[in-house]
Amino acid sequence: MAKTRARKFILVDRDGTIIEEREYLSDPEQVKLLPNAAEGLKGLQELGFGIIVITNQSGIGRGCFSDETVQKIHRKMAEDLKVFGVQLDGIYYCPHTPEDHCNCRKPRIGLVINALADFFFSPEDCYVIGDNFCDIELAKNIHTKSILVETGYGEYVKKSKKVEPDFIAKDLLDAVRIIRDQKNKNE
Ligand SMILES: [Mg+2]
Ligand SMILES: [Zn+2]
Repeated sequence: MAKTRARKFILVDRDGTIIEEREYLSDPEQVKLLPNAAEGLKGLQELGFGIIVITNQSGIGRGCFSDETVQKIHRKMAEDLKVFGVQLDGIYYCPHTPEDHCNCRKPRIGLVINALADFFFSPEDCYVIGDNFCDIELAKNIHTKSILVETGYGEYVKKSKKVEPDFIAKDLLDAVRIIRDQKNKNE
């Protein structure tokens, strides 16, 4: 893939952040955008950010569903988002289980490395947005800012106080407000 000009990207989690969290989602028909998710991604795009989805899909490694099923689910999600004018720049997923000790399962940074090979950007200029511990830890591992959304597992993660996100947002639309404020502060 050709490298595009330097842009800033939002690295966003899939389950519990863009679409409803379901354990081992295996049916494209069960893809449901969370309230405000498409509007939020649209807002981020309008701020000039590219959108890259970074997701752990250990259900593949566990044999719950195939690689092909995951790609169907991603096509369905992309179609649903397109209705709102949202264009995903890329979707990267880890198919492994924790026992595989791969380098791409979040919070490890392998998927970001793969995205860097396709797009030209500085990880420090990104935001990682997600609902789980691994998303916040991924942000730390690539030395960038994290936003914990309170959708999916987010509320539980927030209450646990086991991670310290840079920001906490109600949902993806609320995250736009935070990023816009930060942008205005830095300009
Ligand atoms: Mg998640
Ligand atoms: Zn992996």
